[in-house]
Amino acid sequence: MRASRFFMPTLKETPSEAEVPSHVYLLRAGFIRKLAAGIYDFLPLGFRVLKKIENIIRKHMDEAGALELLLPILTPAELWKETGRWDVYGKELFRLKDRHDRDFALGPTHEETITDLVRKNIRSYKDLPFNFYQIQTKFRDEARPRYGLIRGREFIMKDAYSFDVSEEMAVKSYEIMKETYHKIFKELGLDYLMVEADVGAIGGKFSHEFVVLAANGEAHIVFCENCGYAANIEAAKYEFELDKLPPEEEKPLEKVYTPDVKSVEEVAKFLGVDVKKIVKTLIYVLDDGTAVAVLIRGDRELNETKLLNYFNALDAHLATGEELEKLGLIEGFVGPIGLDIPVYADKSVEDLHNFVVGANEKDYHYINVNIPRDFKPIEFVDFSTAKENDPCPVCKNPLKETTGLEVGHIFLLGTKYSEAMKAYFVDKDGKEKPIVMGCYGIGVSRLMAAAVEQNHDENGIIWPENIAPFKLEILALNIKDKDILKTAENIYEKAKAKGIEVLLDDRDISPGAKFKDADLIGIPYKIVVGKALKEGKVEIQKRDGSLKQLISLEEVDKFLDSIKE
Ligand code: ATP
Ligand code: MG
Repeated sequence: MRASRFFMPTLKETPSEAEVPSHVYLLRAGFIRKLAAGIYDFLPLGFRVLKKIENIIRKHMDEAGALELLLPILTPAELWKETGRWDVYGKELFRLKDRHDRDFALGPTHEETITDLVRKNIRSYKDLPFNFYQIQTKFRDEARPRYGLIRGREFIMKDAYSFDVSEEMAVKSYEIMKETYHKIFKELGLDYLMVEADVGAIGGKFSHEFVVLAANGEAHIVFCENCGYAANIEAAKYEFELDKLPPEEEKPLEKVYTPDVKSVEEVAKFLGVDVKKIVKTLIYVLDDGTAVAVLIRGDRELNETKLLNYFNALDAHLATGEELEKLGLIEGFVGPIGLDIPVYADKSVEDLHNFVVGANEKDYHYINVNIPRDFKPIEFVDFSTAKENDPCPVCKNPLKETTGLEVGHIFLLGTKYSEAMKAYFVDKDGKEKPIVMGCYGIGVSRLMAAAVEQNHDENGIIWPENIAPFKLEILALNIKDKDILKTAENIYEKAKAKGIEVLLDDRDISPGAKFKDADLIGIPYKIVVGKALKEGKVEIQKRDGSLKQLISLEEVDKFLDSIKE
């Protein structure tokens, strides 16, 4: 491709809306353009990367025996109503009506659509198993579309769905997808972790996420360097047994004056006790309007995903000052003793002795509180957010914490969708049974951003070779110099003949601008044809800085051979 005939509108300035490197560089290097919030054009450079990512995914999915198909984006409301997700999906579902006033949704995911296809076409155990996949545009009206391709409202996903006759077989399908995902992310050239994940609203039995490690990631994960355990903090089990305080003799309950002393740190300091002895009482209002109290030790943070899962709620929020007042409670001094809303406690509070809680009275706390003498929670539940240095739930080694971008998510769904939608088959024993399902997503367009988050420097993108828009860029530094242009064109033709994807920068712009654009766009290899040509030499470079060397024209052929696959 000749840059003079190509469309790569690079920008000198950082667009004001771009906050993270992938967003900045994909815009500046001319890979994407914004049409509206969370909606992007893929320009020719971006489209090339997208196709590379898709093709790597496609190759491995095909090898795993999955069958590619294409489902409609426009999906009738009836299907969503069968599983209850017409309501559950809430505002994230893009809804519209046809001319007959019938409801439709733009597909955010396709469990319902594929299950409908399968239930209409599969009768017997002999027809199974199947794994279907598609690579398609998805629509989600995200509350906060941001970071460019990382959280879009229109984005490209690979989604796959497996159908099996039993849970045992479904687990096998799941394991095959797990292995396939490892192959895909390795070939993409990304540094990633597979982590245990929360099952969340999609439902199901178990689930793993594939997370590309990056500083700006929204996924928080803990992992163990000793045994390899890794989990999203929403799913990581907190090993409270390993973090208990030593037992103590119970002391008499006492109400103490703590004027204006509210936060855990303030209370601990005022009373001269360890923060682990202060128990926070958090009042949450669930989506059905009920209030619950959740106790947690002062040094732990509550994880809202764990809370939602436990209460089977879609939404919950910490009670506001006003809501507390309505419940007759005083902010900063809420406690479980004598409270007439249901009290639950994190595992960190179990076996805790002589601790401190709010007294439900302004400026007072109770000290020397003990369970069950002074109150009794309904249940002790793991509500804690895992964090750095928590003991590993497998081997007890201190955990490490890091961030990343979720680029893949696999679920063993079980029969949640097949039962709701009556997708049955007749088994060997003649009985009708629900098909056992799994679903497997990859964020194709998010991957493009994730690759940049992980591979860039202050000058631009450094594409991993397998997904770079071109393998090689030839810079003809001064096209007015006939020798330079001719040599560059010769090398370009040779590279093309060898099957190397090559971009020739033959634009009539300054050498400085060419170098800047090349750094921004991030093609892995460069051949610079410039002043050294007088000595019969060109410079070969790698974008990652590991190579910068003058070679003679005779050596160019060998270099080209060395970089072609
Ligand atoms: P998230 O927690 O980031 O919202 P999710 O759990 O909603 O993700 P899934 O429904 O599992 O995501 O979708 C499969 C994959 O699609 C995700 O792993 C992610 O890579 C990608 N994805 C999800 N939402 C978006 C989005 N708004 N923009 C771009 N990619 C997305
Ligand atoms: Mg989401």
